Amino acid sequence: MIESPLLDKLTGYIGGRWSDSSEGNTFDVYNPATGEVIAKVPSMSEADVVAAVEAGKSALRLTSPYTLETRRTWLEGIRDALREHKEEVGRILCMEHGKPLKEAQGEVDYAAGFFDYCSRHIQALDAHTLTEKPKDCTWTVHYRPIGVAGLITPWNFPIGMIAKKLSAALAAGCPSVIKPASETPLTMVALFRLMDKYVDMPDGMVNLVMGKASVVGKVLCESPDVPMLSFTGSTEVGRKLVVDTAEQVKKLALELGGNAPFIVFDDADLDSAADNLIANKFRGGGQTCVCANRIFVHEKVADAFGEKLAARVNKMTVGNGLTEDVDLGPLINQAGFDKVKRHLEDALANGASLVAGKKPEDLGDGHLFFPPTVITGVTRDMCCYREETFGPLVPMALFRREEEVIDAGNDTEFGLASYVFTNDAERAQRVAAGLRFGHCGWNTGTGPTPEAPFGGMKASGIGREGGLEGLFEFVEAQAVPRGF
Ligand code: ADP
Repeated sequence: MIESPLLDKLTGYIGGRWSDSSEGNTFDVYNPATGEVIAKVPSMSEADVVAAVEAGKSALRLTSPYTLETRRTWLEGIRDALREHKEEVGRILCMEHGKPLKEAQGEVDYAAGFFDYCSRHIQALDAHTLTEKPKDCTWTVHYRPIGVAGLITPWNFPIGMIAKKLSAALAAGCPSVIKPASETPLTMVALFRLMDKYVDMPDGMVNLVMGKASVVGKVLCESPDVPMLSFTGSTEVGRKLVVDTAEQVKKLALELGGNAPFIVFDDADLDSAADNLIANKFRGGGQTCVCANRIFVHEKVADAFGEKLAARVNKMTVGNGLTEDVDLGPLINQAGFDKVKRHLEDALANGASLVAGKKPEDLGDGHLFFPPTVITGVTRDMCCYREETFGPLVPMALFRREEEVIDAGNDTEFGLASYVFTNDAERAQRVAAGLRFGHCGWNTGTGPTPEAPFGGMKASGIGREGGLEGLFEFVEAQAVPRGF
């Protein structure tokens, strides 16, 4: 079992109190590196989730809103607590997710950055008066908190994803009911421990419920007291939330699946492209929605690029994230492992060839460690091209012409992240404009940052997190014209 000063309470948190499941149910949390159960946490009931919504409602202030200064203090408090406890929060995160310790601790810093950004830019949410006076009135625009928000997060960034949502919700003055993924609830409990101890927020402003998605999701979708859901996860569940909230016309912020193209032209700096691809692709074990999923390499440089990738991949160490110098941890669970294996099998059976890594039959059983793998000769009918692999498999497909690769990049229902490597600035501008993706890195594989808006086009989602756009997600503009 995991021991941590931040996990002395292992329950939900409702209305300012640590709160167990009213029905007494629990579920196990595993360390994917060892297969051990590291904690038991409550699986909360429908009544518990209703209580959390009620608590949120009681913390909402409309007629005498929390001042910008008060909200800024909350954000700064969370930022400081995360920075102060980065090592321990990162250790908990590493143990339940599996990613290398340094990467896990880096994620805590990344999360703190969202609270910092919102605290520094909160002034943007202040009311302002229009300089023009249409209809003989003086017009003031207010940014009102939308109300109690349901925040539902996935397991791949246990602290990063909640930071994006919670920072903007608190900046807006919205209470929230938070549901972490059942694979990684402990990092969230640690965050609540920090908020409980170090940040002076009204009871009910932040509430934590854990347990079955069907139970929590039902209450959040059906309750008229929850006018907004912010969700990061699969497109499949995102679609279900659209349907389940349609009746009440709830506001949805959705960050869904990706199928990122990573395009390498023949004039690119191949070493830099290879370094960026390694950093991008193997982040979180390849289990992020911004990880390159289809690598399009110009045919003239395909062999050279493949060799560079193989040289880098062959030096990587796979193992328990708590061990020093490990580059790649385990996959999150058996289903995740099996999916990557299936994609590799399918590609090899249909004509792709192995450049680095192991054949499917040599992978072994009884563990979740998948070696970094590079294949080439990938075509559009293969599973690894059509679906998001969510694992350390690098599938290379060859191309010849710019228009052809823009079409290929867009040949997916998704539109989250994309990357283009070329030293021709005009070509880069054309390709970025042609790619229907909310994020397009030019000569960089870097992903989102607190300062910039991030989100999907097409079936990758609705809304933005980060940047000023993200800061406005949880407010509704209200115009107040004053006559004379
Ligand atoms: P992943 O494949 O990353 O686990 P999911 O979309 O299955 O993505 O899950 C993301 C988050 O959404 C998790 O917290 C999960 O428990 C939650 N979730 C899954 N199904 C529902 C649902 N029907 N309603 C609300 N939340 C859900």
